[in-house]
Amino acid sequence: MIKFINANKWFNNHHVLKNITLEIAKGEVIVICGPSGAGKSTLLRTINKLEPIDDGEIIVDGKYLSDPRTNLTGLRAEVGMVFQHFNLYPHKTALKNITLAPRKVRGLSKKQASERAFKLLERVGLSHRRDAFPSQLSGGEQQRVAIARSLAMEPQVMLFDEPTSALDPELINEVLDVMISLAKEGMTMVVVTHEIGFAQKVADRVVFMDNGEILEVGSPPDIFVNPQHQRTKEFMSKVFHIPIFSEAQEED
Ligand code: ADP
Ligand code: MG
Repeated sequence: MIKFINANKWFNNHHVLKNITLEIAKGEVIVICGPSGAGKSTLLRTINKLEPIDDGEIIVDGKYLSDPRTNLTGLRAEVGMVFQHFNLYPHKTALKNITLAPRKVRGLSKKQASERAFKLLERVGLSHRRDAFPSQLSGGEQQRVAIARSLAMEPQVMLFDEPTSALDPELINEVLDVMISLAKEGMTMVVVTHEIGFAQKVADRVVFMDNGEILEVGSPPDIFVNPQHQRTKEFMSKVFHIPIFSEAQEED
């Protein structure tokens, strides 16, 4: 579904993505973690060409992103994205936020778009909030509207960039629960998050990035419990307070 082949990107002289090679199958859930500045957001944004790469290739659902004939509006309709800060249209209701793009891009009638939005609002537990403006919603509710808005385009892939890191702790689970149900329904998802519980429940693979590189890819236990790289071990011990077990300690 998504294939990175030796993808490289620079911001001026700063090499932010280094020889990224990764293949993500349809229905897979990939969690990306790593320190701030590692290139996680940039990597995610290259998938819908919000950031172009300078070298290498990315293929999404058969579309070569380097090919100038690849239609960006079409690509972005296939690849939904949810951001840390929700990015809802502030002057539109929850319902309008959801119906806008399907009407404009997918050509749905007002009635069709509204019916689709009602179903999605129900699915994210917000039927009763459809006429609320973003400022009247909690962060957790805004993020659930943002997810519904992305899903309204019926994307093939969903990208999430730290979707819960701007939320108060008690609101995190209501968003993660929506994401978990989406994962269980078979959605292809690429999620930048440090929510280890989410990763353990639904991630097929975890990618650890540092300094523009993919250092390790493995199952959640591979990466969280038994990482190979020293950098991964250090990161896990800092972020998740997982003790570093060195081989010497294990032998004792
Ligand atoms: P992460 O999401 O892992 O924290 P980012 O992908 O946001 O990392 O950033 C990777 C590196 O690229 C960082 O050093 C960041 O400062 C730099 N960077 C990100 N966006 C830009 C930009 N638009 N212009 C210049 N440098 C950028
Ligand atoms: Mg980021």
